[in-house]
Amino acid sequence: MMAILQVECFDCLSIFSLRGFVEPEDLVGTQWEGCSKEEMGKLEDEDSFIFEGLDPWSKFDDNPVCLDCGSKRVISY
Ligand SMILES: [Zn+2]
Repeated sequence: MMAILQVECFDCLSIFSLRGFVEPEDLVGTQWEGCSKEEMGKLEDEDSFIFEGLDPWSKFDDNPVCLDCGSKRVISY
């Protein structure tokens, strides 16, 4: 549940960790922007997939590039 994806970039040598779960900051720009963690918990109780795809890990999977330089030469584990 508290999964973290490690990503390394071969071009700029950045290393970063991506959360596999959603935090309030991930909701900026969505209809749930401004939700507290508690409110998110209630929404997830009603629909456990409501925030699916909004976590940094899922976003990286959709577009696997380095967050610093945009290179596609990244590995993740
Ligand atoms: Zn990079």
